[in-house]
Amino acid sequence: NWAGAKPPLLRFLDRCHADFAAESGGAVADYIPELGKADPDHFGISLATIDGHVYEVGDTRIPFTIQSMSKPFVFALALDTLGAARVESAIGVEPSGDPFNSIRLNSENHPFNPMVNAGAIACSGLIHEAKGGGAFEYIRQALGRFAGRELDVDEAVYASESATGDRNRAIGYLLRNSDVIKDNVSEVLDVYFRQCSIQVTARDTAVMAATLANRGINPVTGEHVMTPYAISRTLSVMTSSGMYDFAGEWIYRVGIPAKSGVGGGILAALPARLGLGSYSPWLDKHGNSVRGVKVCEALSSHYDLHMLNRS
Ligand code: GLU
Repeated sequence: NWAGAKPPLLRFLDRCHADFAAESGGAVADYIPELGKADPDHFGISLATIDGHVYEVGDTRIPFTIQSMSKPFVFALALDTLGAARVESAIGVEPSGDPFNSIRLNSENHPFNPMVNAGAIACSGLIHEAKGGGAFEYIRQALGRFAGRELDVDEAVYASESATGDRNRAIGYLLRNSDVIKDNVSEVLDVYFRQCSIQVTARDTAVMAATLANRGINPVTGEHVMTPYAISRTLSVMTSSGMYDFAGEWIYRVGIPAKSGVGGGILAALPARLGLGSYSPWLDKHGNSVRGVKVCEALSSHYDLHMLNRS
């Protein structure tokens, strides 16, 4: 800006970055061996407003894998591609209270919701049902429209996930047994492993979140990426189930629909306001980024952003 002074929001994000960079508790995920190589010092915060301003502090251009932050976008894509009736008949929307990788299904032998692995694998299966061998490319391009740029796969993480993904395969076979997955399970799992290995930055994450906050219109590119129906239902499941088995606490304390991933990312989307993306690989016991949680708590309380406290 003309005076050369930093806008207050950027000063606030700077302060969060400086304060929370000192937090070093937690552990880098290593159950996917390649994720264990992440540099725990990396820390980036980006915030995108729905009028298209993007603020960035710290390591906002360092790529990391999207992991479970892919789940909301692929759910939205499934709703728009196959229609709500098909998707909603295959996947529930109740919080499970279980860890993300739980093999437990609901009483109909369907996934509890699209934010746990079982539900996300079912979504990948639905996209595979619609697009066959082109499923992954279809997903990659859709996620790129949310980010406003072409996204690539981290091949090393993909290979590592695929080599160690037997628990997810087991979930896939259970879903095939209950007819939620109709195709070849290993092809569906390949789509899921690749989708989790898509590389994003904190900046991409903020723009993707802002697209959710902006009823499916990317505020930077102006592109209509998804229908308002798919977006509002996606934000609903993020609200009830987005933050692993911390989802209830999260919506109570922070009050912003969000999704985290074991790669260290958190994306938070406050409807009609903003999207936040953070990256820091230290995870707490729930699998949420320690610094990212702090950033969201501070942002919500400083600017009074709890979504149920609006006038
Ligand atoms: N690819 C990871 C898995 O399925 C994603 C987990 C996550 O980020 O929660 O185990």
